[in-house]
Amino acid sequence: MIIDLRSDTVTKPTKGMLDAMMTAKVGDDVYKEDETINALEEKLAKQFGKTHALFFPTGTMANQAAIKLHTQPGDQVICDKYAHIFNYEGGGASFNSGVSCRLLDGNRGMFTAQQVVEAINPPDFYHSPLTTLVEVENTTNKGGGACWDFEEIKKIRTVCDEHQLGFHLDGARLWNALIAKNETALDYGKQFDTISVCLSKGLGCPVGSVLVGNEAFMEKAIRIRKIFGGGMRQAGFLAAAGIYALDHQFERLAEDHAKAKALETVLNTLDYIKKVEPVETNIIIFELNGKFTDADFNAKMSAHHIRLSDMGQGKKRIVTHHDYTNAMHEKFCEVLMSL
Ligand SMILES: *Cc1c(COP(=O)(O)O)cnc(C)c1O
Repeated sequence: MIIDLRSDTVTKPTKGMLDAMMTAKVGDDVYKEDETINALEEKLAKQFGKTHALFFPTGTMANQAAIKLHTQPGDQVICDKYAHIFNYEGGGASFNSGVSCRLLDGNRGMFTAQQVVEAINPPDFYHSPLTTLVEVENTTNKGGGACWDFEEIKKIRTVCDEHQLGFHLDGARLWNALIAKNETALDYGKQFDTISVCLSKGLGCPVGSVLVGNEAFMEKAIRIRKIFGGGMRQAGFLAAAGIYALDHQFERLAEDHAKAKALETVLNTLDYIKKVEPVETNIIIFELNGKFTDADFNAKMSAHHIRLSDMGQGKKRIVTHHDYTNAMHEKFCEVLMSL
């Protein structure tokens, strides 16, 4: 038994999901003739209260397309120093859109409206890059699955309105925040110009992300997706997994959160752990205190066929997910307590 807790992207489609995929009605989506893709896009546009949604092969491509929609080369994007768009998209913001990132020193990947105000370059001061976009991530990945305070998001929306800035949400794990905080997609649709969501994380799909927004922003999105090489053909087989997941595998995210909470409790009792970031969703970030070296701890985990992620600076990451069973959970807790 391999216990793979590196990411919630390691899941395999369930039987029900595979059946939905195999029986999907498909067509050529580049001609917008794939009825399953069209159905998924309509479903998500409606959920977020937006006019448009567009299917993408990856969350990275959806975020990169959003940055491209909102900016011109030379512009500056305000985001947190932990942001996925800055740390984990291969430098795509500068490569694809020719923009720089103004990094805010937030708390677990989250910042305040006041920090945004202070980071906006005066538009008439032509020496500095023109600020055009603010980007927020919810839940935060590097921040350990932390959820934003919705009131702060509303304040940032007001700042964006006052300064005519675009406002994009990297909602790769927004579903987890909605479950954890009892919020709705509609709440988020009202605040943001564009939102990317991943189907391939906690929802358990093999592939797929969606970008939602209103026509003013999204009319160019299909061209940008084509330029990035993301125009796919009979991709309805993948969209079918997304529709199935939204209908059948959304509520169960609460189980991942409960398991993560239980792991937090166990980790907090162990004499070789220095610190556990407070757990809110399905990500746990913790640090060792030196009783075991990093290599030692990793070797002990591999000996039990347990896989975790290294986040650098001595931090480890666990992500609970659909394929992390109760039996695996019991075994993992036993192993942690036995070291
Ligand atoms: C996973 C993730 C993405 C997108 O990743 P892909 O692997 O390209 O789908 C974007 N943002 C965050 C915060 C993520 O965790």
